[in-house]
Amino acid sequence: MKLKIFCCPECRFRKFGTIAALNIHITKNHNLNYKIFLKNNKPYVKRKTERAQGAYIREVVPSQ
Ligand SMILES: [Zn+2]
Repeated sequence: MKLKIFCCPECRFRKFGTIAALNIHITKNHNLNYKIFLKNNKPYVKRKTERAQGAYIREVVPSQ
């Protein structure tokens, strides 16, 4: 069983076991207009605005 830990790209201290938990934290605490989800097994940021381009981000996954 793999446990994935995702860091909040904003505060960089909080860690979450799931992307969903991270998204809830971002929405509640940072009021940002993007969501993070997994694409091809990598964390991917997508703004909620129309036609916004997504981008892979590195900061979400801490190196081991
Ligand atoms: Zn945060």
